[in-house]
Amino acid sequence: MMDQDALLLQAAKDVTRPRRLSTSVEVASVGAALRTSMGRIFTGVCIDAACGIGFCAEHGAIAAMITAGENRIESIVAVNEVGDILSPCGRCRELVVQVDHANGDTRVLLAKGARPMRDLVPDHWLLDL
Ligand SMILES: [Zn+2]
Repeated sequence: MMDQDALLLQAAKDVTRPRRLSTSVEVASVGAALRTSMGRIFTGVCIDAACGIGFCAEHGAIAAMITAGENRIESIVAVNEVGDILSPCGRCRELVVQVDHANGDTRVLLAKGARPMRDLVPDHWLLDL
């Protein structure tokens, strides 16, 4: 793992602090961090809520990045509350590809190493085949 990846992983771990906000909402059991092409790191946490209205940690990190005016994702990682790296869900894979101008080169840090997003979304409708 590259030093930059280790920093990104630590950023994701730093925001992962599970806590219950109400009877129906639990947050931050998963944390995510992404590095943009400009070298900035943005983080996010999941919001688990009743009735399916929550969202993933990656989604939160992407929203923070967009709020700051960026949208090119160089690398992204998510971890659970014990620091294990998680593979992004299908919705988050789709969000990364669409937000980043159909860039399939985003590096996704996985437990067994980094892979380009295009490997995780085979035959994606926006990516060159
Ligand atoms: Zn997700």
